[in-house]
Amino acid sequence: MSIARGFPLLKCVNVHARWQRFYSSAKLRNIGILAHIDAGKTTTTERMLFYAGKTRTLGEVHRGNTVTDYLTQERERGITICSSAVAFNWHGHKINLLDTPGHIDFTMEVEQSLHAVDGVVVVLDGTAGVEAQTITVWAQAEKHRLPKIVFVNKMDRPDADFMTCIQDLSQKLDAKPICLQSPLKDENGNLIILDVITQQMFTWNNVSLGREYTAQPLFDEHVAELQEKRYALIDELSGIDDDLAQVVINNEGFDQIRNDLIKQALRRAVEQRKVVPVLLGSAYKNVGVQHLMDGVIDYLPAPPERNQLYDCFGEDFVGKVFKIVHDKQRGSLTLVRVFRGELKRGARLVTTRNNAEVVSKVYEPLADEYREISGVPAGDVAICAGLKHTVTGDLLTVSTSSLKNAQKRLQKTLKLPERYEAPEENDADAALVREIFSTEPQIPDAVYFCSIEPPSLATQNAMEAALKQLQREDPSLRVNYDTVTGQTVLGGMGELHMDIVKSRILTEFKIDVDLGPLQIAYKETIETPAMDTFQIEKEIAGNKQSVTITLELLHEEKERFSLDKSGENAANLSALRPRTLQVIRKGALSGLERGPRVGGQVVDTQIRLHNMTIGRGTADSFIMAATAQCVQKILTSAGTRLLEPVMALEIVAPSERISTIIADLSRRRATINDVRPKSEQNNIISVSAPLAELSGYSSALRTITSGTASMTMQPCGFARMNANDELRAIKRAQGFE
Ligand code: GDP
Ligand code: MG
Repeated sequence: MSIARGFPLLKCVNVHARWQRFYSSAKLRNIGILAHIDAGKTTTTERMLFYAGKTRTLGEVHRGNTVTDYLTQERERGITICSSAVAFNWHGHKINLLDTPGHIDFTMEVEQSLHAVDGVVVVLDGTAGVEAQTITVWAQAEKHRLPKIVFVNKMDRPDADFMTCIQDLSQKLDAKPICLQSPLKDENGNLIILDVITQQMFTWNNVSLGREYTAQPLFDEHVAELQEKRYALIDELSGIDDDLAQVVINNEGFDQIRNDLIKQALRRAVEQRKVVPVLLGSAYKNVGVQHLMDGVIDYLPAPPERNQLYDCFGEDFVGKVFKIVHDKQRGSLTLVRVFRGELKRGARLVTTRNNAEVVSKVYEPLADEYREISGVPAGDVAICAGLKHTVTGDLLTVSTSSLKNAQKRLQKTLKLPERYEAPEENDADAALVREIFSTEPQIPDAVYFCSIEPPSLATQNAMEAALKQLQREDPSLRVNYDTVTGQTVLGGMGELHMDIVKSRILTEFKIDVDLGPLQIAYKETIETPAMDTFQIEKEIAGNKQSVTITLELLHEEKERFSLDKSGENAANLSALRPRTLQVIRKGALSGLERGPRVGGQVVDTQIRLHNMTIGRGTADSFIMAATAQCVQKILTSAGTRLLEPVMALEIVAPSERISTIIADLSRRRATINDVRPKSEQNNIISVSAPLAELSGYSSALRTITSGTASMTMQPCGFARMNANDELRAIKRAQGFE
């Protein structure tokens, strides 16, 4: 029996001191780790850093309830770069691991980091299989066409079930799993891993905290069993990969096929997203993590193997901002995935929204810190200081003309028929391209809001500054000042989102703010078009201020402010100075911020200015306030209807549970859009339902289906409600229910 020392692990530990500078981009991996909460993402990441020699001690996650668990961790880490991007080297490669928060409240952040990675590791809890959030993050990775590998974690636990996880992968996620390993327990119940391709058995030695492991040939009954699995693997892969099929034919069978040829075929199949390799282990018990890291290098693509989309920039620099973080010493830092060119210190850049920026410093992420360098090459991740206007989601380029030319080139390329075969793929591509180039980051609408108060009046300004900073980092956080109640109001994606904001203001800005109760963010829209004329006069400090204004409010989804171009009005309005028009426009739009019914934002409503007479010496501030007031008056007299946030749900459940689920959903004012078979046993139900009816739905679903169903949920817009429901919502908003 030959006992091999597990790979050159110790060598990696020694490399700790020196960090090799420019890696060739073929030796780079940018990956995200996705998981349902508690599957072991943090523990797995911690172990990777440890084995790569980037940390000297093993961090442990102590279990609390899931939400607080998340909060404590983030609090302990102070949400520094360390949790947003970590880098380590492994067998001559550099791996950048970008954080992708798994909770639904952070969909925007996940989306942005998925733009920045080339592949993902999906961690499953071996005792739970595919869970609700697994489905959501999987779908997001699919949308970004990301190759994946799966790590089935917690296989040390007696209730873990590898085969159920594999079944889940194909049934609940429509994936084609390829098992690269098989679990086994020794006489003491310790986890052992059998490797299908190399036909070896790996055992870990816990004295070294799992740093060392032994590889030995198989014996006994496992030989035949694992050989069977190797045949099955080659059989399946050669059905997908022509090169491997040719090798099989040339070898007249499976026995003599070289491992590296199997691995190459697998790598190609993963890149084309035809299969998903599955590895297993126990991060907590230090088993199997090294092979997961090998898997990242062996099967997930390097930057040059993807991102052809950015070819349209030629040699010009282009990068995508996927995160902005606040650092105690260095202030605001921007994390950029460099796609083409080099990001250099001192570079002058332009954002997609046309802001000019200068990069004052460039850092590269290290395990739990970062180091200043002069530049970062294509394929890699850079951390920049000095950018002032950039927000998460922006594309950074060298100039506006570089961006325009790139867009033109891309448009041409995408029309080439040979690149995309299926028409629906084409549409999805177009959407992705739009998203990447969009001048406004696509910010999801807030579905919840709550008031936020500083502990004292003296800290009001500091709190506002803190919120401003947080908003740059996370555009999905909305901050509004409610002139009626005098309160600052936060809008966001959910309870956890708000809690994180509160905890960050405490840890990073040392202000202990109070949050009011969480409420659903209704919107309002005008009930019927209406028009009115008002004359408003006032004397301020001896100066007479007066305006006479005619406004119309009408239904319109796109333009929010327009001028009446007909007859006399056109002549009258053209006499207004452009600057005054801007003031009027601003006032009018601010009149839409709070609807008369529940104070919701007024949408799908256009303000048309018909006529305006302004008295001599009237101040801009008066014009603005008067216009807003008129809009409010028209809204109040014409009346508004409420729009409520609606969620899209996809529920995967066995056929015999469908009727129970649908009966329950019908009590929640849900619309069933589709029920279709997913696999032999499972169906997918597509539903849209008002957010107001979904509190606690995931646990309700678990109860009524005895845990056999799983679901994903995401915001999908706002919808009108009937008069009864509207009345109840208003009562609830006013605190009467
Ligand atoms: P995350 O929410 O995905 O980041 O999961 P964590 O890494 O925070 O892990 C959640 C809980 O599961 C913690 O209590 C961990 O100690 C525990 N855990 C993580 N990995 C394993 C594992 O391999 N085996 C066992 N038994 N527990 C684990
Ligand atoms: Mg975690």
